[in-house]
Amino acid sequence: MTAPRGPRPGNVPPNHNPNALADGMQHLQINRPNHPPTNPTGGPRPSATPFGQPQAPSFARDLPANRPGPPPPGAFQRGPPQTTLPPNIVSRPIGPESPAIRPPPGALPSALGPRARPPGPFAASTGALLPPSGVSSSASNGPPGLGPGTMQGGLRFPPPSNTMRPPAGAPPSQPPGIRPPFGSPPASTTSVTAQLPPPFPGSTHNMSPPSSSSPFASPAQAMPPPMGAPYGMQTQPRQVAPPSAVPGSMQPPMMFGMTSPHPNQAEAAITPSMGHAGSVLTGQSRVDSSQIPRPIPNSAVILHETRQGNKANPPPPATSDYIVWDTGNCSPRYMRCTINQIPCTVDLLTTSAMQLALLVQPLALPHPSEQPIQVVDFGESGPVRCSRCKGYINPFMKFIDQGRRFICNLCGYTDETPRDYHCNLGPDGRRRDADERPELCRGTVEFVATKEYMLRDPMPAVYFFLIDVSMNAIQTGATAAACSAISQVISDLPEGPRTFVGIATFDSTIHFYNLKRALQQPLMLIVPDVQDVYTPLQNDVIVQLSECCQHLELLLENIPTMFEHNRIADSAFGAAVKAAFLAMKNTGGKLLVFQSVLPSIGVGALSAREAEGRSSVSAAEKEAHKLLQPADKTLKTMAIDFAEYQVCVDVFLTTQSYVDIASISVIPKTTGGQVYYYFPFSAISDTAKLYNDLRWNITRPQGLEAVMRVRCSQGLQVHEYSGNYCKRVPSDVDLPAIDCDKTIMVTLKLDDKLQDGSECSFQCALLYTTIYGQRRIRVSTFSLPCTTMLSDLFKSADLDTQFACILKQAASEVPTAPLPQIREHVTNHCINILYSYRKFCATVSSSGQLILPEALKLLPLCTLALVKGTGLRTDGQIDNRSFWINYVSSLSVSLAGPWVLPRLIAIHNLNTKENEESLIPPPIPLSSEQISDNGIYLLENGEDCLIYVGNSADPGVMHQLLGISSVQEVPAQFVLQQHDNPLSKKLNDIINDIRRQRCNYLRLKLCKKGDSSGMLFFSNMVEDKTSIGLPYVEFLVHIHRHIQSKMA
Ligand SMILES: [Zn+2]
Repeated sequence: MTAPRGPRPGNVPPNHNPNALADGMQHLQINRPNHPPTNPTGGPRPSATPFGQPQAPSFARDLPANRPGPPPPGAFQRGPPQTTLPPNIVSRPIGPESPAIRPPPGALPSALGPRARPPGPFAASTGALLPPSGVSSSASNGPPGLGPGTMQGGLRFPPPSNTMRPPAGAPPSQPPGIRPPFGSPPASTTSVTAQLPPPFPGSTHNMSPPSSSSPFASPAQAMPPPMGAPYGMQTQPRQVAPPSAVPGSMQPPMMFGMTSPHPNQAEAAITPSMGHAGSVLTGQSRVDSSQIPRPIPNSAVILHETRQGNKANPPPPATSDYIVWDTGNCSPRYMRCTINQIPCTVDLLTTSAMQLALLVQPLALPHPSEQPIQVVDFGESGPVRCSRCKGYINPFMKFIDQGRRFICNLCGYTDETPRDYHCNLGPDGRRRDADERPELCRGTVEFVATKEYMLRDPMPAVYFFLIDVSMNAIQTGATAAACSAISQVISDLPEGPRTFVGIATFDSTIHFYNLKRALQQPLMLIVPDVQDVYTPLQNDVIVQLSECCQHLELLLENIPTMFEHNRIADSAFGAAVKAAFLAMKNTGGKLLVFQSVLPSIGVGALSAREAEGRSSVSAAEKEAHKLLQPADKTLKTMAIDFAEYQVCVDVFLTTQSYVDIASISVIPKTTGGQVYYYFPFSAISDTAKLYNDLRWNITRPQGLEAVMRVRCSQGLQVHEYSGNYCKRVPSDVDLPAIDCDKTIMVTLKLDDKLQDGSECSFQCALLYTTIYGQRRIRVSTFSLPCTTMLSDLFKSADLDTQFACILKQAASEVPTAPLPQIREHVTNHCINILYSYRKFCATVSSSGQLILPEALKLLPLCTLALVKGTGLRTDGQIDNRSFWINYVSSLSVSLAGPWVLPRLIAIHNLNTKENEESLIPPPIPLSSEQISDNGIYLLENGEDCLIYVGNSADPGVMHQLLGISSVQEVPAQFVLQQHDNPLSKKLNDIINDIRRQRCNYLRLKLCKKGDSSGMLFFSNMVEDKTSIGLPYVEFLVHIHRHIQSKMA
C-alpha cells in the first residue's frame, strides 16, 4: 500500500511557467521571434497557486479479491514499436471515414529543407490502406458486444475500397513545370440562368428548368474526371440562355461604378402571384413549387486551381467534392472568405448588406488526391518574416532591388532580405527560385519552429480518461460502453515514449488508479473530498502507455463489474475533472470525460433547473432563455485554468436525462474541445457511435498547445474571432488542442479605402505541437482582388461561407436574446442582401419579380431552415438546443449547410437506380408532399440519420433493407445490419459513404408515422408550414414583399 504523498501541484518543473508560455506565444513567439523570450525557463510560480491548499488525507487501498489479478504471462504482450517512422507520420487509419485515403497533414519527414520535394501523398500512409488487423468482417454496423471477451475486436468502418470517390490511381504529384489543364474557373464559366416561374399563372409550362448548380449554390460545375486522370479534365462551360427580357423592364440605376452586369451573370427570378398591394396573401400561391431554388447536388469531382494567370479563382462550393491544386492561394479548406472580392470601401460593403468574414480551419483534412503540405525548415534562423507586422514569408511578398529587399504584402513595410535567403530576380520580376521554394509558390506551408517558438520542450501526448461509474451510468450500460470504446482505441494511440495515459472513475468520490507496471495489479486510490480536490499521486497516475498497457486493458475490462452494484447516484463531475486536471497540469494534454448524469455534488455541482424552466416555456419566447446560459461561473473559471495549462477537455454525454449542457459545455468550448451527445443513451444503438467518435477524436489530425493569429492587409483588420478556444488577448486564439474538424470564424472590418484593382491578403498562422512532439507553424495565405463594383461582390459571394457565419452568429445570440428577435434578425439579413442586389444590380426589374443573385439564390431557403430549425425553436428539449448551439460554434463550412438543411433521399427504390455516377441517390425537397406512404426515406444532417418507413411501404423491401416486416415492428433502438441481399448492401454502402463525407458516425433512428419519431422526422421538412414559419413558397413571397416595400 503506497501512501499517495506525491508532490503537490504547486511544485512544477522549472521549465514550466504557464503564464510565460501563454504570454510568450502571444507576444514573443508568433509576433516577435527575433527577440528571445524574456523568461524562457519560467520564473518562480506565483506563491498563491490556485490549488495550494494543505495536503488532505487520502486513502490508498488494495483492490478487493474480486478485482483483477495480474494477467497471465504474456497475455497482453505489447510489442515494441514495429517500425521506425518519421516522427510526424501517422501510419494508422485516421478516421471513421475511409481511413486510408486521407494523408495526415504534414505527412512528411521532418527534416526536409526548404527545397525538398515531398513524397507522393500516399507515401506516408500506405500502411493505412490495410484494414486494421483483428477487425472482423465489416458486414455489420451494429455495436460491439460488451462482454469482457468482446472488447478487442472493434467495429470499424468498412474497408475504403467502396468509399473512394476520386480515381484510385490518381497521379497526384505533378512533374515540375507541367500544369494540369484546368478549365476556366468554375464561377466564370458556369453561370446559369434559373428561369423561375413567370409573373402570371398559365405560362408555367414555358419555364426553363431550375439551374443545376451544386448544393448551396455556387455555380461551379465540373464534368466527372476521366478514369485515372484527375487533373486531365476541364470544367465545361454550360451554355445557358440569359434571362429573357421582360417587356417594359428598365435598366437598374448605376451605382458604385457599376457597369452592365456580366453577360454570364444570371438571376433567379421568381414571380409569385402577388395579391393587390396590401392584401393578405391567403397562402394559395400560384408559384410552381417544383421551380423554386433548391440545392442540386453535383456528384462530380471538381478540380480547383487556387490561382490562375495570377488571379484568384473563386473556390468551389464547400459541400462539393473537390481536389485542390495550390498554385499560390491556400486551399479553401483552410480558409474561405464570405466574398471572393473585397470591397474597396466601407460604403460599398455596407450597401451590399453582406458580411466580410473568414472561416478558418487550419488543420482541415485534405482530399486524398491532393499534394501534402510541404514542410520548410529554415534552420536556426527560423522562417523569414516581416520585421514590422511579423507576417510570414509567402508568395505575395514582393522582392525588389535585385532581390535584396522585399515588400510585405500585409503591412507594406520593406525589409532587407536575409543574406542567406537572397536570390536574383528573373525577367518577370519574380525570384528565380520562386517555383522551387514552397513558401514562395504555395498558399500553405508548414515551417519547422525554432527554439524561439518554445518556452518549454514540446509537450508529450497525454490522454486522460475519466469515466462516470455512478449508479445510472452503470445501469444504462454507459460505463461499459465507455470502457469498451477506450479499450478498443488504445491501440490507435500514437506509439512511442511520448505517449502517456491516465485513468480515473468517479461517482460521489474520485478513484484514481496507479498503473505502474511494477505493481501486481492496478491500485485504486480514492479522493473523497470533492469540494477541495487534489490528486493522490503526482507521478504514477499518468504513465507511459508502453509501461501500463496491460494494466490499463485489464482495468478497463473490469471497471463495469467492479462497480456493478454501485448504488451511489451522485456525480462529482466538476471535482473529478478538476482532479484529473491537477494530475495533467505539468504536461497538458487531452482529458476525455464520459459523463452520464447531472453533476450533483462537489465543486461545480449543478441543479436540475430544467424543471423550473419548463413551467415558463411560454415566457421563453419573449426573453432570453436563462437555461441556455451557464448556471454560474465555476466551470468557466476552471476551464480558463485548464486552457492556461494546455489541457483540452472533450465530454461524451451518454445520458437519459437532463445534464445541463449549457453549463458543462463551457469547459470543452474554452479548452478547444468538443461535446458529444448521446440522448437518450442506448447501449444497443449508441455503443458503436461512441466508439467511432472516440476513435476519430484520437486519430484525426490534430495539434496541441496551439496559438493562432490571422493577419490581413493594410486597410483591413480582424474584428473578432469566434469558436472553441480561450481568449486571453484580443489578437490571438489560444487552443490547448486543435483538430482537423475545428473551424474558427474571423470577422473583418475595413478601416481604410483599398485600391481598386489591387489585391489584399489574409494569412493564418497556427503555431502548434504535433502529437509526435514537433513544434510547427502552419501558415496559410491567400490574396483576393479588391473591387469598387457592387455587382462583383454579388458575383463572387460565397453562400456556404456566408451561411455558416449567419448560423454561428445566430447560435451565439440564442442564450442572450429573445428568439423572435433572432429570427427577425436572420430574416432581415437575407432581405437586406437581396434588396441591395435587386435595387443596384438586377437587370430584370419588373416589379412583380423577385430576383435573386445566382450565387445567393439559396439564401432564402437556408434562412428559412435556420429560422425553423432546432436552435431557434422553443419546443425542443433544453439540452438539445444547448447541444445545437455548442455544435455550431466550431462547425466547418462544409457541415454548416447540411446541419440546418438536411439531405433527404428515397431508399425504397435503390434497386431501380443502377448505372448512376453517385452512390448516394439525388436529394429530394424537404417537403412532406414528397413523402409517400409507400416509401422509405433517409434524412441526415451530418450528425443524426433518420430512416422513415411509410405506413404502406413494401414489406419485402422493408425486410431486405431493415430486417423488419411491418411498420409495427419499427424498434425504438435501431442497429443497422447488413443482410445478405443487394438492397441491404447498397443501403450500408450509402450510409458509410455519408459517414465518410461527414467525418462522423451518424446516429441512426427508425421513424414511423403517428408517434414522436415521425414527428421528429417531419420537423425537418423545412418547406412545410410550421407553427413558427411559413412554407417555402410563401416565405419567398414574404421576402419579395419586403423588398418591394423597401424599393417603394
Ligand atoms: Zn508586414
